[in-house]
Amino acid sequence: MKTDTSGIWQKCLQIIATQINPQSFKTWFEQSRQLPSDDNRLIVEVKSRFIAEWLASHYSAIILDAVNSVDETIESVCLAYPSNGDYSFVELKPSHTDAGAVDRFSNLNPRYTFDTFVVGEFNRLAFMAAMAVAEAPGRTKYNPLYIQGGVGLGKTHLLQAIGHFIKQNHPDKTVLYVTSERFTDRFINSLINKTTSKFREFYRSADVLLVDDVQFFSGKEGIQNEFFHLFNALHQRGQQIVLTSDVPPSEIKGLEERLVSRFQWGLIVDLQPPEYESRVAILRKKAEADGIELPEEVLSIIAQYVTTNIRELEGTLIRLLAYASIHGVEITPQLAMEVIGTYTRAPQPVAKVVTLEEILKAVSEYFGVSPEQIRSRRRTKQIALARQVAMYLARKLTGSSLAHIGKFFGGRDHATVVHACKTIAQREGEVARLVREIEKSLTKS
Ligand code: ADP
Ligand code: MG
Repeated sequence: MKTDTSGIWQKCLQIIATQINPQSFKTWFEQSRQLPSDDNRLIVEVKSRFIAEWLASHYSAIILDAVNSVDETIESVCLAYPSNGDYSFVELKPSHTDAGAVDRFSNLNPRYTFDTFVVGEFNRLAFMAAMAVAEAPGRTKYNPLYIQGGVGLGKTHLLQAIGHFIKQNHPDKTVLYVTSERFTDRFINSLINKTTSKFREFYRSADVLLVDDVQFFSGKEGIQNEFFHLFNALHQRGQQIVLTSDVPPSEIKGLEERLVSRFQWGLIVDLQPPEYESRVAILRKKAEADGIELPEEVLSIIAQYVTTNIRELEGTLIRLLAYASIHGVEITPQLAMEVIGTYTRAPQPVAKVVTLEEILKAVSEYFGVSPEQIRSRRRTKQIALARQVAMYLARKLTGSSLAHIGKFFGGRDHATVVHACKTIAQREGEVARLVREIEKSLTKS
């Protein structure tokens, strides 16, 4: 018997929309639609092969779950994309989801490992503490380890990386990851179903308990009491506890004093926003992971404009890839600028992106010394002055960090760059005029 399957995808979309962030939903799902089919197959049209493959490798589990919950009779789900005037298909298979599926028991997402975690100045301390705990769970002084940082800076990733590492290297240990909200829900359900002792037994069986976003315990007394006792039980037996939060313990409003003090017992580490070099490194790693090679300049443009957090960096990269694929165009610095311009909430208005290479070239022309001389270690007066001007302009016009600029102009340290910037900023007369002129030539569009 043929069942009426029209409208299924619309219902699925409503479910999917509640499960992923709005930006991803917009990028990957908004332009999809169901095609008619005369068997128990769901066929969904998407705009390009890239999108079909991306959905298959990143969202299979979510899509199949949604389809299953809307209509159990659907036997398979195919994504159709236009190719040479016809359609080609990608079938979603449960096996596709293995890489993206969450381990049901420990609740760990396989994407969040130390391998995929980029370490830079901004997160080095937190990373080292996480590694120390992962290598010797329960046996360091870092118990609990409390990882603190703003949204999208890698708290969940780092927390889960600890879990993966321990599962791999200490297979006998029971690792449990849970968000504070999920913990709360499960507790409340256990009250309703009169299964609290099972609930307690479950969490007390953990050798390693990873609790994400403990700021949401804020103001909930019952759950705080429950967690207090769990914390003590685990801590006394030397089981490892790792917590994350967007604020320090003392700033979680309505958190009982006894929990505040316990959260402070071990070590508190802080995740900061990534600096320029780390932003580039993160972008490079993400692109590599998806098998895509991007021009250095594109990476550098994104890293210059998207400075808030790592989630935004990822989001921008994905939008760029999606845009290029949908419109069938190459990924160029101009395209990157366009995508950033359209999407970032507060685009920093800069007349034109200036690269370090352009500065090098312009300064070399104006001063009549070669780029190689500027980047060399030579110190004749003319070359040294040109180099200082170049560093000054790089600092002023590119948003590159001091360390990066120093490295670019001949492997110098950041103090040299600071000194150059000060020196040139104080110059008057002919040098000042020259600097203004070079700057003008670089920034006119
Ligand atoms: P938070 O929990 O602090 O809000 P997440 O851990 O969810 O942040 O990180 C946001 C996104 O950025 C995730 O996709 C994560 O994989 C990625 N990410 C965060 N930190 C890093 C890092 N150091 N290297 C690579 N990717 C990272
Ligand atoms: Mg998180």
